[in-house]
Amino acid sequence: MSKKFGFVYDERMLAHECLYDDFVYERPERARLIYERLRDEGLLDDAVKISARRATDDEITLAHPKSIIEELDSLKSLDECEDFCRSKEILWLNPKSAEVARLAVGSAVDIVKANVEKKIGNGFAIVRPPGHHSYDDLPQGYCVYNNVAIAAKYAVEVLGVKRLMVVDFDVHAGNGSFNVLKDDDRILFVSSHLHHYGAFWPHEREFDCDVTGNNIFIPFNGAMNSEGDYLAAYHHVVLPIARQFKPEMVICSAGFDAGYFDVMLEDGQGIKAPGYGHLIRLLNDLCPDRVIAIFEGGYFPKNYVESAYMMTRGLRHMSLPKIVYPKKVNGSMCEVIWDCLSHHAKRWTVIAEALEKAQKQQELLGLAKYAPRPTKLFLGDSFREHINEARDEGRLNTRNWIPVLTDDQVIRANTMIEAYIKEYNFYSPTVELSAEELVQQIVWDEKTQADCHVRNVICMKFYNEWMDYLQDDNGCMFILNKKNKATK
Ligand SMILES: [Zn+2]
Repeated sequence: MSKKFGFVYDERMLAHECLYDDFVYERPERARLIYERLRDEGLLDDAVKISARRATDDEITLAHPKSIIEELDSLKSLDECEDFCRSKEILWLNPKSAEVARLAVGSAVDIVKANVEKKIGNGFAIVRPPGHHSYDDLPQGYCVYNNVAIAAKYAVEVLGVKRLMVVDFDVHAGNGSFNVLKDDDRILFVSSHLHHYGAFWPHEREFDCDVTGNNIFIPFNGAMNSEGDYLAAYHHVVLPIARQFKPEMVICSAGFDAGYFDVMLEDGQGIKAPGYGHLIRLLNDLCPDRVIAIFEGGYFPKNYVESAYMMTRGLRHMSLPKIVYPKKVNGSMCEVIWDCLSHHAKRWTVIAEALEKAQKQQELLGLAKYAPRPTKLFLGDSFREHINEARDEGRLNTRNWIPVLTDDQVIRANTMIEAYIKEYNFYSPTVELSAEELVQQIVWDEKTQADCHVRNVICMKFYNEWMDYLQDDNGCMFILNKKNKATK
């Protein structure tokens, strides 16, 4: 019999709320709506509630210097908070935020501890503020302290977990977690994230496929990858490496902003909610009852509530709606999988074998062997330079970053999500692909290459927005505003 499900939720975390800008997407209701849905569906009835607890300085310093704790604790007025945020990329705070962030860290640590001490099986910490972008003395991207990185460090340093896997499936790169965890050989760190060849934040080369050490990046260069495409990347790259690494437990940075019709609409990703349940199920197969999810992003309520609900069903070993794996992965994802295989074959024998098998298939079909691009494509250099300059000079925008969706857009996103929910099929099982079918998913033929080019055109949208900013004297690009420079 599987162990009891554990969760954290505490209304004190709703006190972290932006008091000077109505446009922010990271709102208190995010945690509350998820909690209420899980409660109303009965998913918390027989669960173990872990009490939220303030993290100690010793715990926070597993990932951050003491100086940043003191600086955050010293912010007493709203003006001081906003001033502090002018040198951070997409951050807002209020005078209670540092205290709430401590609660989020303490909760993440305690739910991981409860699992290691066998008081609970799988669990979900519905905490705010999120954490995965925060590193060193740099809170950013709605994140204050890095909940997941601290909990991961606590697991290996204090709880004696020998091999730990951290899976960050939020649509944004787990850049903060990576910076904290990348050199720790006890930890296998995985981040699947939007990249657009660097045209997407954080505009850094290092978040491409060719990451070294015990780290795996699955960068997406196309929009609207489906749950089937996502799971293909996990099946081809992440899970084989994980099986070779043999983690004792998995901690997830559970962000749902890669969900179908989250606030980026068609420019975003296309994981329908059951995809999150199936992804968790695969991780649970790897480490039964040793999977802890910690809440990160996800901003369109209908998406993140449904996604968190399905993920929790997965954590609780409940039935999930059927999903259909694609016979062929889309061209853009196919290129990413091949690039990851080509790169990780150097370190992981299982991947070297998979690559050989896939290349053999190319040969048998009379196709050329896959070869990565001779020069790595990267579009983000000037983005990063400009942002760094504005950040270091403390003139980043602290308000009105991302336009709120219009009423029409909200109606459309709700309609799109409701449409797939109506189609849920709980009665026929999801058919897993055989080893042969899996390798057939990534045949690299002319049609796939053409599809790859077409799908990757989305990166031009982000690139062009940037070029418009550079060319316009009064240019504005969500965190950067040329007017700020002129008046400085
Ligand atoms: Zn995110």
